[in-house]
Amino acid sequence: MRQVIAGNWKMNGKFSDIEPFAEAVKNADLAPELVICPPFPLIQSFAAALPRDKGAIGGQDCHASPAGAHTGDVAAALLAEAGATYVILGHSERREDHGETNAEVAAKVLAALQAGLVPIVCVGETGMERDAGEAEHVVHTQLTHSLPERFIGLIAYEPVWAIGTGRTPSEADVTAMHAHIRAVLTEKFPASGAKTPILYGGSVKPGNAAALLALPEVGGALVGGASLNAADFLAIAASAPRG
Ligand code: PEP
Repeated sequence: MRQVIAGNWKMNGKFSDIEPFAEAVKNADLAPELVICPPFPLIQSFAAALPRDKGAIGGQDCHASPAGAHTGDVAAALLAEAGATYVILGHSERREDHGETNAEVAAKVLAALQAGLVPIVCVGETGMERDAGEAEHVVHTQLTHSLPERFIGLIAYEPVWAIGTGRTPSEADVTAMHAHIRAVLTEKFPASGAKTPILYGGSVKPGNAAALLALPEVGGALVGGASLNAADFLAIAASAPRG
């Protein structure tokens, strides 16, 4: 299956970054599906600058309600109208900064699906949880409670301690966790769980991407810091296996 390389720009980027970034992506001929998730105000211009067959645009969050008195939030349908086709949900920075619970993430996933967006749902353990031997249990709980009864989308396994730190789990640990996630998905979603792409995220760089993307059950990457630089983002995408 085609891998997905998604870039999470977080609270970075300016309007002036769009054109050079989109040009670089347009000129690349790469196997994976590319997704760029810039801050909300850039979505519409980015979607206009990037032909859909070259890359997709995603939001970094959405509200669970279709509209209403939710200052500072954004509705899934508005993201879609602006040109987004994906949305990252349950990122550890949102779970941490905004106290998002698994139940709230599940409600957002439902809203995203109703708006026709493809959710990328993030799960992952903290360093303390891994050290305590609880990583699989934590991820199991997140998957069980952050996904609605019917789920079509992607999962991103992002160990919190690997995000923005330059540290990555061993290949054996990534393989074991992705196998665990696959088992949970196939049990929870017998019809679709075997095919749900599972991305790895956490300090993916051009230098380690090929090894990570070649691991079993790794269906792509969610890239933070390295996605801000088009050359690095495209080098990561070029490391994805063809097929
Ligand atoms: C992220 O925040 O989703 C992420 C993977 O960040 P980084 O690549 O910078 O570790």
